[in-house]
Amino acid sequence: MSAPSHHGPDGRFLNPWPVAKGDDEIRRQFWRVARTFLLARRPPNPRPSQLPTARPEVAHPTVDGGEVRITWIGHASTLIQLPGLNVLTDPVWSTRCSPFRALGPRRFVPPPLALDELPPIQAVLLSHDHYDHLDRPTIEALHARFGDGLTWLTPLRYAEWLGALGIARVVELDWWEGARLPGGRFRAVAVPARHWSRRKPLGTNQRLWCGWAVVPVEGEVDADLPEHADVAPAGVAPDPPRRRPRIWFAGDSGYCPAFAEIGRRLGPFDASLVPIGAYEPRWFMEPSHMNPEEAVRAYRDGGGRGAFVSIHWGTFRLTLEDPLEPPVRVRAAWDEAGLPAPDLHVPRHGETLQVG
Ligand code: ZN
Ligand code: ZN
Repeated sequence: MSAPSHHGPDGRFLNPWPVAKGDDEIRRQFWRVARTFLLARRPPNPRPSQLPTARPEVAHPTVDGGEVRITWIGHASTLIQLPGLNVLTDPVWSTRCSPFRALGPRRFVPPPLALDELPPIQAVLLSHDHYDHLDRPTIEALHARFGDGLTWLTPLRYAEWLGALGIARVVELDWWEGARLPGGRFRAVAVPARHWSRRKPLGTNQRLWCGWAVVPVEGEVDADLPEHADVAPAGVAPDPPRRRPRIWFAGDSGYCPAFAEIGRRLGPFDASLVPIGAYEPRWFMEPSHMNPEEAVRAYRDGGGRGAFVSIHWGTFRLTLEDPLEPPVRVRAAWDEAGLPAPDLHVPRHGETLQVG
């Protein structure tokens, strides 16, 4: 069998779509990048009154019945509460997303919920190794609290990094591979994203990146998805009376032809968590981050139904756009597309959405 198209011949991963810019092309533009970022006039940091927070309405220990709650912690960190299951996405509680304590992007808004206020967490979904997504102090704190009660789901080649922190319960998945989540009612499928990875000591794209779909175990649209691993105990709990929800967490991604396939194979989604920030300047960011208009297009490609949950904005300044611009543009793009107003969510930090 030939290697999947995102597995490069040199052992690194790549974006298999014709839209992707090569690393070499980006490297050639180093001086243009340096000049742009050094000379850029940055809009001021948002004032606290411009980023109001909400008190999380988290269910302890989990939600009941067919209820779904999604709490935005900030950036790409969310707490997804499904019946019998609490999942975190890319948990970052640190003040800075950086390899340094005193340098690097500093959060505008403190986490609205302390780590020790979290309900029991059974699974963490990690999308890639950038510092705004893979935060060592947070991971160590979660591991200290939950130990082997917590399963870490990652794209390929993260087990060694997590293993060095003493974490053994890691399930590494390639794109389109799925694993049953604790409790046995849902599974997580690693889905393609148009992005990249780099974190010392490894070089560019030596670890894979991905988004995630969380779908019910029964009634999958595409029964051919390979079952890579099964982390659920034997004996699946009986079906609850209500239909089980489907969630898509898009990770970090440039606009990408895979979104339609994700929707076709795993949708329609009840909630899509889509990044809307970190997109300027376009000539540099377009291959790896969507702007708000593309984020709305991604949602439509993924099926165009259910809640659009805006993430990856308003927490850290990573790029050159005004940190308050993404919600304005996503609302305009949503209206322009004629989509139903109640389905668009731009949560405040800490806000809990009830879905379905
Ligand atoms: Zn990233
Ligand atoms: Zn990011």
